[in-house]
Amino acid sequence: MSSRVTISARGEERVRSGHPWIYRSDVTDVHAAGGEIVEVMGPRRRLLGHALFSDQSQIPIRMLSHGDVVVDAALIRKRLQQAIAFRASLGIDATAYRLVHGEADLLPSLIVDRYGEYLVVQALSQGMDRLLPEVTAMLVELLAPIGILARNDPKVRTLEGLEQTIEVLHGDIPESVLVREGPVEYDADLRKGQKTGLFLDQRESRDAAAKYARGRLLDCFSYNGGFALRLARHCSETVAVDISADAVARIRENAVRNSLPNLEAREANVFDELRRLERSGERFDTIVLDPPAFAKNKASVPNAMAGYKEINLRAMRLLSPGGYLVTCSCSYNVSEDMFAEVIHQASIDSRTPVALVEKRTQGRDHPILVGVPETYYLKCFILRRVE
Ligand code: SAH
Repeated sequence: MSSRVTISARGEERVRSGHPWIYRSDVTDVHAAGGEIVEVMGPRRRLLGHALFSDQSQIPIRMLSHGDVVVDAALIRKRLQQAIAFRASLGIDATAYRLVHGEADLLPSLIVDRYGEYLVVQALSQGMDRLLPEVTAMLVELLAPIGILARNDPKVRTLEGLEQTIEVLHGDIPESVLVREGPVEYDADLRKGQKTGLFLDQRESRDAAAKYARGRLLDCFSYNGGFALRLARHCSETVAVDISADAVARIRENAVRNSLPNLEAREANVFDELRRLERSGERFDTIVLDPPAFAKNKASVPNAMAGYKEINLRAMRLLSPGGYLVTCSCSYNVSEDMFAEVIHQASIDSRTPVALVEKRTQGRDHPILVGVPETYYLKCFILRRVE
């Protein structure tokens, strides 16, 4: 008999609404082992579809298909092909970008990023972890990469009872990989870099910000220079600030590689550095705030809001009249409306009237699946100080 999980009426309602996740509280009966592909039955014994099953996660079910559509190798392969073809159709001017964005590509909990001739994959559930050898073979067949690296080190894997590992699944992965994003060349460290090496989700917002960037630029939370390197060629002087010594060393190397002499990288805590710059009466014409997710869960939302307000308020005070503030939040738990309200409060408290010039989100290679709010996490507002 095939493996089978029964869910409640509320779970069935969720499946119908198009959400791929069913929570533990909506699972009523289990005849399956963790990591299996299971039949999902409704409370009236109707087959609702097939799903990845986890026996430890708070999200035991991630839907792969609806009705009696069978999940086999051909279906997985087709979804990979579709995801890859979609990216190819976007005309992305970069050699590093996301090929598979999990739920939004109907391949829940699977991430595949391309870095030139190399791929980095993440399997973030028991079921996807089990499918990974098969997925790897398909990626080799479809894309013929020189190497595939599994960056299976995100903490969420522990919630699935999975190990945190980094391993080469195919071919070779060098110490660093040279990639290009628009006019910028980066050296990406796929094994040790944050996320899978670079913050690929901000590529289009970097391009957008470059259209406004000018004068003195301050890039806060710069990592290895995503915004700083892209915007520096439009600015007279660039200051990049990050708390990580590694990141600062990378920015410096990348600045040399890209012949950007007017770029200074500082190792500092942005909260302290903004205060210091304010005390010394400095002004900037373009400021970028791209902090890490301050709200990693619901409990941390109040502190996160205070943090967002503080950095935005201080950045507004440092902004010269007519200057631009590119401000981001990648916390899923802070909604777009909440973030807009923080910006409003920061504008009031700093007595800086600002106009919203562009409202942006993650790049098109990180699509948002309608009906699945969890896939909309990145907010990026481009503001202009109007006096
Ligand atoms: N803007 C980058 C991505 C930023 S990721 C890009 O476009 O690629 C967030 C960065 O913030 C990380 O590099 C992390 O080291 C840094 N960081 C976290 N807390 C910080 C703090 N308090 N002060 C300065 N940097 C911080």
